[in-house]
Amino acid sequence: MMVREHAALAAKGAQLVELRADYLSRLPDLSRLLRDRPTPCVITCRRQSDRGRWRGTEQQRQALLRTAVVYGAEYVDLERDVARAIPRYGVTKRIVSHHDFEETPDNLEEIYAECAELDPDIIKLATMANAPSDMVRMLKLVREADVPTVGFCMGELGMASRILCGKYGSPFTYASFSKERELAPGQLSFEEMQGIYRFDAINSDTQVYGVIGDPIGHSLSPLIHNAAFRSEDRNAVYLPFRIPKDLLASTLEEFEWLEVDGYSVTIPHKEAVITVADRTDGPVQEIGAANTLYRDRQGYWLASNTDYEAALASIRLGMETEGQVDESLSGKKVLLLGAGGAARAIGLGLARSGALLTIANRTHKRAQELASGLGCQQIKWENRGTVFADVLVNCTPVGMHPNVDETPYEIHWLRENMLVFDTIYNPESTLLLKNARERGCRTVSGVEMFVRQAAAQFECFMRRAAPIEEMRAALRFGISPLSSFL
Ligand code: NAP
Repeated sequence: MMVREHAALAAKGAQLVELRADYLSRLPDLSRLLRDRPTPCVITCRRQSDRGRWRGTEQQRQALLRTAVVYGAEYVDLERDVARAIPRYGVTKRIVSHHDFEETPDNLEEIYAECAELDPDIIKLATMANAPSDMVRMLKLVREADVPTVGFCMGELGMASRILCGKYGSPFTYASFSKERELAPGQLSFEEMQGIYRFDAINSDTQVYGVIGDPIGHSLSPLIHNAAFRSEDRNAVYLPFRIPKDLLASTLEEFEWLEVDGYSVTIPHKEAVITVADRTDGPVQEIGAANTLYRDRQGYWLASNTDYEAALASIRLGMETEGQVDESLSGKKVLLLGAGGAARAIGLGLARSGALLTIANRTHKRAQELASGLGCQQIKWENRGTVFADVLVNCTPVGMHPNVDETPYEIHWLRENMLVFDTIYNPESTLLLKNARERGCRTVSGVEMFVRQAAAQFECFMRRAAPIEEMRAALRFGISPLSSFL
């Protein structure tokens, strides 16, 4: 961290900043660096063998660390093998650290015990997660540690532990200056750590929620759900949990230790989650997919599908005429594009509401299968422009960011007064919706559905009405270019 960046972080509320001396192009002038420091700091100087950038000799490096101690830096980071060579002096506290960029080793406790022998004030353990269960092992250690321990797992599989370590007693955590300046795999930016996850407010009573999927890095659910918790000042945090497809059941069992109260569920777990749940509700079994898993009042894991109601509510919203809600879908001709997970849920809702449904899908066989299950019509993908429809629903990703110049339905097929519902929410205004407005159609975007399904999840988790406007604003921010500055 450079001097200017240190000042910028202090202005944003950082209370402790790590100065990475190995990232400076010249040998740093520590007296100058420390003289006007705007916050307490940790002086770290990593060797290249520890994935640092130090180019000087090991002797120079240790001399620099000793100088930091002499100048009274608040903390100095000492790797396990050099901690004895740099004795305690003055007010400077010692962080004895261990990094493993390959794995979370089986002998984690032994490594901790060795660090504890090296006169630490704080122990730092950062190891690579190769499975979500590594994170649980690490957090168990953090909770049991006698010496205050900042312990977390690196990599996307361990990302949540960077935040959750605060719940189990880590005195602080590590975040990068900005997204572009990630210093270790899976690291979050300071803005994300503070702005989205509110790390400083996390304590042993914090309730834990999250989204499970693979990949999960780009999910907007943490942004939306944490915004809801923040707006209600709840002591709760919502985390991204990357769980590989074949590890769902075993990971959820391991995560019992984390006392997670509810999950949003996304690809590839929407089907399999039904088999690990104790119970299902609503149309989950008929749809064959759930997007929510939470503890019911009796403590059982209940799988639910909030996409279904959210989609129907969004379509009904589009049918509102002059302030009057035309609730009835009965008898309306609906053309549904797609036959994947979203189409299955929405198709069932439409069929049950009495809509006259026709399904078109790129792979015709899947359209036939879905149509036969729902007892409705299907047509070939290339004939989709020939069907008369009151309502058009897009359940394909065609037109989704970054392919925003694509549309699944030609402009000249659209007719005035048709209702066009695009389930895509990024961008909010897809080419399909822009074309539809140009042709005088009524439109509803996937933002409506996404916010509603998230709000319904909040209601499952919290058993109270969701702050839907805050959630909508968070989603709109998340899909705007502004979010790249987080
Ligand atoms: P999915 O199960 O993977 O299904 C994707 C569907 O899109 C399949 O029917 C697939 O056809 C079709 N498709 C994919 N690429 C295509 C292309 N280039 N041209 C034509 N058809 C194509 O995915 P899903 O979960 O149903 O999600 C589909 C869309 O719904 C996503 O884009 C997502 O944005 C949206 N969605 C929105 C919300 C919300 O809350 N707003 C919630 C869920 C989903 P094949 O059968 O031929 O592969």
